[in-house]
Amino acid sequence: MATTLPFVDLKTQFALLEPAIRERMDAVLNHGQYIMGPEIEELEGRLARFVGSRHAVACGSGTDALLMALLALGVGPGDAVFTSPFTFVATAEVVSLLGATPVFVDIDPRTFNMAPEALSQAVAAMRTKDPLAYPLPANYADLAPKAIIAVDLFGLAADYDAIRAVADEAGLPVIEDAAQSLGAGYKGRVAGNLGLIGCTSFFPAKPLGCYGDGGMCFTDDPELDALLRSIRNHGQGRDRYENVRVGINGRLDTLQAAILLAKLDGYPEDIRMRDRVAAGYTELLGDLVPTPVIPEGYTSVWAQYTVMAQNSQERDRIRRALAEDGIPTAVYYPKPLHLQKAFAPCGYSQGVLPVSESASHSVFSLPMHPYVSLESQKVAAQSIRRALAG
Ligand SMILES: *Cc1c(COP(=O)(O)O)cnc(C)c1O
Repeated sequence: MATTLPFVDLKTQFALLEPAIRERMDAVLNHGQYIMGPEIEELEGRLARFVGSRHAVACGSGTDALLMALLALGVGPGDAVFTSPFTFVATAEVVSLLGATPVFVDIDPRTFNMAPEALSQAVAAMRTKDPLAYPLPANYADLAPKAIIAVDLFGLAADYDAIRAVADEAGLPVIEDAAQSLGAGYKGRVAGNLGLIGCTSFFPAKPLGCYGDGGMCFTDDPELDALLRSIRNHGQGRDRYENVRVGINGRLDTLQAAILLAKLDGYPEDIRMRDRVAAGYTELLGDLVPTPVIPEGYTSVWAQYTVMAQNSQERDRIRRALAEDGIPTAVYYPKPLHLQKAFAPCGYSQGVLPVSESASHSVFSLPMHPYVSLESQKVAAQSIRRALAG
């Protein structure tokens, strides 16, 4: 068996950036402000400029960023939040955690992102309280629409113009789950700043990762910025011992901010390298399997390079062949959220969101990081060709 190529390569990047990372970490060890040290504000300022937002609020994880966004919008029991079932669990988990209910909206089969037409149908079905018009959660009669969380899956932005058209008509705010898409392009704008509040993650394997957990909220709204800052710090008022609302301990560690600052200069080049890797895969695999679709006016940061088999048996066969040749693969996501036990109280049954369900049976992702070699991509193409030949 060939030596296994890493699915995500954090070691090569560390080797390249080690002096800068150690220097930034040493600075924190020397000043000792481990909580809310000066690196936090520096990182917030730089990332706000990077995505083009007026405000950025660093926090403890992508999940905390989503939780803080929902808290800032006052989401709670009795609220319906429209979101995708084809995403990492955190996107919908925070909705249920607050006692609200996710309304799952099916995806576009080409981009895997929320289908705006499906959103429109789901919003209309909630308005008319008609679960025959679109699949709704079991407690739909007791719910009032409150917000939309769109997800930029695999590094590609959702269609925010179309989503916002539906949202505006219904008077609903749009939260952007940009955990996988920080810095992606959408019609001249930058992912992270495509919703009323954008939420990203610095989990190590994300396109811009720290060495632990981390996340950030972005917004142009000064009132939401102030609210998010208060919520991040136990609902703090004017000072630490004035608590004006219920919040969380959602702060980002200063050390993680220091690591991100050391990585940030190289991030645009990382994105260009990921794009070259993706182009290489598409060139080699284009005649074998459906490869990712990047619509006109969009750019991806390639959190994953995801292709499709015809069904789960063929997917198993391809993944086995790749593994034999030292190419690891992963399936994001093998079970859509509406069929997960955690969301059983929502009462969704199999078959109601067919595009997400079909995608969960056919997708698989190939190694993606800036240092994937063309040779290993050729090996991957040969393995897939062999598996398809039978
Ligand atoms: C990773 C991820 C999250 C959660 O981020 P954490 O930093 O791991 O909490 C949320 N949504 C999506 C789409 C993600 O990929």
